[in-house]
Amino acid sequence: MMATSRSAQTVFSRRQLLGMGAAVVAGTLPAGGYRVRLAGAVTLVDPPWSRHPETVTSLSEEATYLTDLHAATDRVRMVTLGASMEGRAIRAVIVGPPRTRDQVRAANNCMIFGSHHGDEWAGREAIFEHMRDHAFGSGTETIVYLPTVSPDGVALGQRDLADGFDPNRHWSQSGVDRRTDGGAYLPEQQCLRQAILLYHPKIVLDTHEYTSTSNTFRFDSGTSNASGTPEAVVDVDGAVIAAMRNVATAAGYTAVAYGGPVPDDGATQAFKHGGIPALFTESAQRAAGGLALRRAQQLNALNAFQAYVQSNAAALASVAASVTWYSGFTPTVTDP
Ligand SMILES: [Zn+2]
Repeated sequence: MMATSRSAQTVFSRRQLLGMGAAVVAGTLPAGGYRVRLAGAVTLVDPPWSRHPETVTSLSEEATYLTDLHAATDRVRMVTLGASMEGRAIRAVIVGPPRTRDQVRAANNCMIFGSHHGDEWAGREAIFEHMRDHAFGSGTETIVYLPTVSPDGVALGQRDLADGFDPNRHWSQSGVDRRTDGGAYLPEQQCLRQAILLYHPKIVLDTHEYTSTSNTFRFDSGTSNASGTPEAVVDVDGAVIAAMRNVATAAGYTAVAYGGPVPDDGATQAFKHGGIPALFTESAQRAAGGLALRRAQQLNALNAFQAYVQSNAAALASVAASVTWYSGFTPTVTDP
């Protein structure tokens, strides 16, 4: 913990920060307020992308950033869930009021995944900003973030895991790796399952992107992007997707439902099979607005998702009463 007390935190507008001589580039600042710590000098805790808005955050930058966030507030804790095929750490970042694992389970909570596919960055980049805002905010819900489900994929710049398997396409609805039918999960899936076993999320959001070559979606992202139309694809059923789509539309984005069937072997369907309300977002990888637009779309969706969780705690708890969370499996990672 740093010496700075949270009571010293406040929120400044971009204009105020620049007026104080903050060493930031105006063009990199998102539109919202900034939570900063005052310890004699203004300290910004900005996500790494603020230094390079159009390129992916490296794994080493991520590690440093998460460590900084963890040190800055007792609302952040990190748990290493395991390692990828190539030995890279996969982490859960638990953000909200300080709670034990059991308290997290009992609390209003949710889980958000980034870079399930390693070359789909926008959700991951948005997560870095969203977790910062929640860390320095006052929200009472616990959000468990797995910002980088596939660090190998991020490092290698590829959709699939290091061995070429698609982590999102090898879930079975029972939670068993379809390749073996013996429960020998891919390491990345083991980590994801560990997180579910540990924290019992009441709803899950998995962030993805899609390519312009796909005809599966209602949008042809190539033509839509050529017209400069911001677009985002959001797919869930029921109230939460309606809420997220409304927020996306209000922000000027074109939000549509997934145009084709959600794959039965996708993680989203696997979560739903266990009874966990699950949804995913997809921004278009080749959007004319670049990563900045896609990140903004994903952040918009994350904020709407969080607002839904905040406003529907009772409904989520009611659903959770019958969720199984992969019962029958035992967590091997501990988090007191
Ligand atoms: Zn994907």
